[in-house]
Amino acid sequence: MGGVTRLDDLPLRDHLRGMTPYGAPQVALPVALNVNENTHPVPEEVAGDILDAVAMALRDVNRYPDREFAALREGFAEYLGYGLTREQIWAANGSNEVLQHILQAFGGPDRTAFGFAPTYSMYPLLTRATGASWVAGTRAADFSVDAGSAAAQVAEAQPDVVFLCAPNNPTGTPMTLEVIEAVYDATEGIVVVDEAYQEFAPRDSGSALALLPGRERLVVSRTMSKAFAFAGARVGYLAADAAVVDALRLVRLPYHLSSLTQAAANAALRHAPTMLGMVDEIVAQRDRISATLAAIGYKPYESWTNFVLFGGLHDAAATWQGLYDKGVLIRDVGIPQHLRVTAGTEPETTAFLEALASLDSAS
Ligand SMILES: *Cc1c(COP(=O)(O)O)cnc(C)c1O
Repeated sequence: MGGVTRLDDLPLRDHLRGMTPYGAPQVALPVALNVNENTHPVPEEVAGDILDAVAMALRDVNRYPDREFAALREGFAEYLGYGLTREQIWAANGSNEVLQHILQAFGGPDRTAFGFAPTYSMYPLLTRATGASWVAGTRAADFSVDAGSAAAQVAEAQPDVVFLCAPNNPTGTPMTLEVIEAVYDATEGIVVVDEAYQEFAPRDSGSALALLPGRERLVVSRTMSKAFAFAGARVGYLAADAAVVDALRLVRLPYHLSSLTQAAANAALRHAPTMLGMVDEIVAQRDRISATLAAIGYKPYESWTNFVLFGGLHDAAATWQGLYDKGVLIRDVGIPQHLRVTAGTEPETTAFLEALASLDSAS
């Protein structure tokens, strides 16, 4: 006996064997453009207000937090608009936990969840962790999905939960409301539209929130991690029929949102326009990345997000390493000959573009 214990030595649940944890590298490089964070810090005037709110909450931290986070749900309902009420809002520690709650309630053993690959890598991980199986659908060569194909694939798979990442990570691809409606009509399962990047889409593009009335199996999830520059605070939320929210209460841990998190998120929400003030600047850097990449011979895909997927690389791993060696961290998302880069501040974006040009590896 003795020695190092390996996972295989433990009585691990069978369906977890062979799985790998989510593992985007976390290394301290000068320019980190790998996990689609908002690289602009929280504005000074808002940071002060958040600190005050957290300090107030700390005085009562001997008590459990408001289990129903009523003020925060009210705030999200108001921020989202569309006539939503707080009964239709749910929140958790990042939208990852929101998605996990959905799978705990509607996925689980003997059930399936479905998404159009390539898509957000957490969907299959969260799905399998609840004991459900993951079914991957397909996209066109440009990573788009049209309504006819989407509906046919979903009708064929008969999933219990469908994830529509709109716009899609890691490709940036927009998804029309027509596709979402067609998928909803093709299934009796829960349809989750993950709008993590919605604030970076063109202003006149529709949100799936408009489709909620009359569709009690539709769920629209959002996060404060990207546009709101709040990734470290861990706050995600969703809007859906009040009955869906009731279902999620069955699986959440009591008091899952700490009073400090609630206070910080409430304060940040009160300053939504300031918090979102950097979105236009980030969109400008995203479009600059796309234009520059195309001009130097790479193949950027249309993006409605804060990142750009680009192809045309001989050897994506070598380019990734070359950039790393120059202090620029981007993401190899596992699509051959492609890499993904987050739009940073102007100087960060310049550093990325100059480092890439100096590697000169476009095919
Ligand atoms: C970043 C991201 C999220 C956000 O996750 P949080 O847990 O809220 O930080 C959700 N969905 C997609 C597709 C993402 O890219």
